[in-house]
Amino acid sequence: MNALAADLLRWYDANARVLPWRSNPSPYRIWVSEVMLQQTQVETVIPYFERFMQRFSNLEALAKANQAEVLQLWEGLGYYSRAHNLHKAAQLVLQKHEGQLPHTYAELLTLPGVGSYIASAIASIAFQQPFPTLDANCRRVYIRLLNLQAPLGTPALERKLGEYAEQLLPQERPGDFNQAVMELGERICTPKTPLCEQCPLQNICQAFAQGTQNSLPQRYAKPPVPHYTVTAAVITQDQQVLIAQRPANGLLGGLWEFPGGKLEPQDVSLEDCLKREIREELGLEITVEKEFGVYHHAYTHFKITLHAFLCTLLPGQSTDSLRHVRWVKPAQLTDFAMGKVDRQIARRLQQSPLPAP
Ligand code: SF4
Repeated sequence: MNALAADLLRWYDANARVLPWRSNPSPYRIWVSEVMLQQTQVETVIPYFERFMQRFSNLEALAKANQAEVLQLWEGLGYYSRAHNLHKAAQLVLQKHEGQLPHTYAELLTLPGVGSYIASAIASIAFQQPFPTLDANCRRVYIRLLNLQAPLGTPALERKLGEYAEQLLPQERPGDFNQAVMELGERICTPKTPLCEQCPLQNICQAFAQGTQNSLPQRYAKPPVPHYTVTAAVITQDQQVLIAQRPANGLLGGLWEFPGGKLEPQDVSLEDCLKREIREELGLEITVEKEFGVYHHAYTHFKITLHAFLCTLLPGQSTDSLRHVRWVKPAQLTDFAMGKVDRQIARRLQQSPLPAP
C-alpha cells in the first residue's frame, strides 16, 4: 500500500464518523445512502436515511412500494429524479437479479440513476472492488495535493484527476480509502479555509507547501443566476383546494403543487399571468380573488419569487375530466408530496381556516 493511502486509512480508522449507513453496511443501505448523498450534506441526509430504512428496510420493500409513498419520504431532500430512479432500479433488481444488487461495476451502471460515481462507490464500499470515487470532495483534495491550477471541468484536469485517483487507490480496503478521501474533503480539506493543521496529508500536500490551498480549486466565473417571477393559484371550493400533480419527468417530477406558472412578457399583470397559466395547464377559467402570500426560493440553477393568489372557478367550470388534479381538504395536504414552496402554502392553509375569497 502506498504511503498516502496508509496515512489516510490510519486517520480514517481513528476519526471516521459513526453514520447510520456504516453500521450494518449492506449493499442496499450503501446504495440508498450514496443516492441520497449526491448534492446533499451528510447532516441533511441522516434523518431522511433513517426514516427511509424504517419504512423500506430492504430492497424488496422499496420495489413493492407505490411511487407516492417513496416521494413522500423524499420530500424536502430535492432532486426528485433520484427517488424515481431509485424506485425503478429496485423494481428492476427484484425482477432481473432476484433482489440482489449486481456485484460488478458494469452491471451496476445499467441501473436507472446509477452513473460512474455511484457504481464506483457501491463496487468499492459494498463489494471491495478497486474503483476510485471522484466526487466533489475527492476532486478538491486531489487538486490541492497536486496543486493543480487548471479550472474545474477542463478535460486535462479531469484526465489528471482520474489517473491520480487510480494510482492512489490501494487494492486492500478500496471502499474505506474512498470513504476516507471523501470524509477528509468534507471535514478537513473544506472548500473555504481548509483545516491544514489537522490534516494527515499535510506533509505531502503541494498546495499547502505553496500556500495556495485557499485559492484551489480554480473555477470559471459563474454566470448570474436567473430570477423568475411565478404565480400559483389556491383555487377553493366547498372548503377544499385544488392541487395538481407535476409530470413525472423534469423539475419536482411527480410532486403535487398549487397550479400556476412563470410570468411571461405578454402578461400585463400577475393576475393575467395566473389566468393564462390555468387556462393553458388545466383548461379552466378562474377569478383571481386576492393575494395569499409571496414566497422566495432558490433552486440549483435559478431563483423564484412566487405570488400565490386565492382563486375560484368561474361558474360552469369543471375538473371532472382532469386526471392529474385532486380536490382536497387542507388537512389532507400532508398526504401529498410537495416541493418546499408548495408545502409552505399548504402549511399556512392548514394553520388557519380556509379564508373566504
Ligand atoms: Fe487539504 Fe490542507 Fe490537507 Fe492539503 S494540507 S490536503 S490543502 S487540508
